[in-house]
Amino acid sequence: TQVTMRPFMTELNDMFISVKTTKHFHKERLPIILKTWFQLAKDQTWFFTDTNDYDFQKMTNGHMINTNCSSSHSRKALCCKMSVEFDTFIETDKKWFCHFDDDNYVNIPRLVDFLGDYNPREDWYLGKPSIQAPLEIINKDKSSQKVKFWFATGGAGFCLSKALALKMMPVASGGKFISTGEKIRLPDDVTMGYIIEHLLKKPLTVVDQFHSHLEPMKFIRRDILKDQISFSYSKNKEEWNVVKIEGFDTKYDTNRFLSLHCFLFPETRFCPR
Ligand code: UDP
Ligand code: MN
Repeated sequence: TQVTMRPFMTELNDMFISVKTTKHFHKERLPIILKTWFQLAKDQTWFFTDTNDYDFQKMTNGHMINTNCSSSHSRKALCCKMSVEFDTFIETDKKWFCHFDDDNYVNIPRLVDFLGDYNPREDWYLGKPSIQAPLEIINKDKSSQKVKFWFATGGAGFCLSKALALKMMPVASGGKFISTGEKIRLPDDVTMGYIIEHLLKKPLTVVDQFHSHLEPMKFIRRDILKDQISFSYSKNKEEWNVVKIEGFDTKYDTNRFLSLHCFLFPETRFCPR
C-alpha cells in the first residue's frame, strides 16, 4: 500500500472559520449556508455580523458574533469586522484562521485536506489574488515611496496559519487592524495583504482553488469541482454568475449552492437519490 505523508495532521477541529455578514444579508444569504456547508463544520464556523439576531443565533447554535461594528459598507466598518474576526481567532487554540464572505460556498473536507499540506507553525498566507499584478500604493509617511504587495481577495476566502497570526499581533490585534486600514485607506482584504506582505515581508501563497465571483464560475469544469475549496455567486444586471452544475431547478436553487452541495455530498438528506 502507498502511504501518503501527512506530516501536520490537520483536522476539522484545528480550524477557525469566520464568515463576514451584515444584518441586511442574514435572511438572504445565511439560510443556504446553514443548509449546506455549515452542517459539515458547525462547531468551527462563526458568523461575524453587526446586530443581535435571535433567530439566527438559534439556528447557528450560538455562533453569531455581534462585532458592534457599523453596518455600513464603509472601509472602516469592514476593517472593524476583520479586526474582530482576527482577535477572536487569536483567543482560540485553533491552528488555522480561514475567512470567507457570506456569498461563499466552502468545500469543508477539501479545505481540511488542503491545509494538511502546510505546517501551521510556519508562516502561511494562503489565498487568491484578483488582480494580475501586485497592488502599488504610495506610502504617504515615508517620502511618497511606492509600496507593492499582493493580497488575497476576501470574497474568495483565505487562510492564515497561527504562527503568522501571532506575528501579526503587534500591527493587527486589539483594534490595530482598523488603524492600519485607516492609514492606507484601503479595504479589509487589502489591509490584510499590506500587513502580511509589506509590513511582515511574508509572501502570499497563491491557491487557485479559492474562487470569488470576480471570476466566471461557469468555467470551473465539472470534473474538478470536488477539488475546489471555495465558490461564490453574484448577479450582474440580469445575468447570474454561478457554478454550472445540474441539479435542482434554477428557480428553486438560483445560486446553485444546493445543487453543488448534492453533487459533492450526494448522501445529504435533501438530495435526490
Ligand atoms: N458586507 C458587510 N457590510 C456591508 C456590506 C457587505 O459586512 O455593509 C459583507 C457581506 O456580508 C459580504 C462581504 O461584505 O460578506 C462582501 O459583500 P458583497 O458580497 O455584498 O459585495 P462584493 O464586495 O462582493 O461586491
Ligand atoms: Mn460578494
